Amino acid sequence: MFVDVHAHLNDEKFEDIEKVVERAKNANVEKIITAGFDIESSLKNIEIAKKYEDVFVTVGVHPEMVDEVEENYLEKLKEMCKFEKVVAIGEIGLDYHFKDDNKELQKKVFIEQIELANLLNLPIVVHSRDAMGDTLEILKEHTPVCPSLLHCYSGSIESANEFIKLGFSFSFGGVVTFNNAKNVVKVVENLPIEKIMLETDCPYMAPVPYRGKINEPCFVPLVAKKIAEIKNIEIEKIEEKTTKNAKKMFKI
Ligand SMILES: [Zn+2]
Repeated sequence: MFVDVHAHLNDEKFEDIEKVVERAKNANVEKIITAGFDIESSLKNIEIAKKYEDVFVTVGVHPEMVDEVEENYLEKLKEMCKFEKVVAIGEIGLDYHFKDDNKELQKKVFIEQIELANLLNLPIVVHSRDAMGDTLEILKEHTPVCPSLLHCYSGSIESANEFIKLGFSFSFGGVVTFNNAKNVVKVVENLPIEKIMLETDCPYMAPVPYRGKINEPCFVPLVAKKIAEIKNIEIEKIEEKTTKNAKKMFKI
């Protein structure tokens, strides 16, 4: 069985979540971790996890949402973490792609949430886009106490090795199947399988041959197949190892 460690089941593109979960099961994707990106989506994901036994949650404020963050957001996140199926704080991090005039606020909110995770003894799920240097710098100073995850990793193998020293693993999704993903392919090739997990980031980033369509957890095996090809390992081994890695980190 597979685990999708990063999905957004709360997204309005998913009209019938029951069907999405069912299609995942039929594709052997047994467990799904659905990620919050602000307070509202985190709460919505908790409601979804209450309904479906094999759906787990991360709660957190995404760097693109920091301008709207309320003063008491940390208390709200802390309250949410009382729910036993909250398995990490995420997705949190830095994103300078569309907006970089609020770097200081992004860093502050990132650090505050790392500290919350450390207080609660939870892993973090990190989103980092066009901000790899600052992400690494912050994590060196504010290292998570629990082994944690960089999702949709797009950095170099050199940076990856630095993150590994800080206890990080990496999850990969549809991007590895794209023709222009040479850098990601190289990273996957060089990373030990013990550090790799599978994700979709659905409804976005659907793998080939569904690129541009609505992505779903049921497409995880396509990502596994591509990683098996890149690493020249049987897909069964990829399935077994990545699932083991996810279960260990998120205690699911
Ligand atoms: Zn995401």
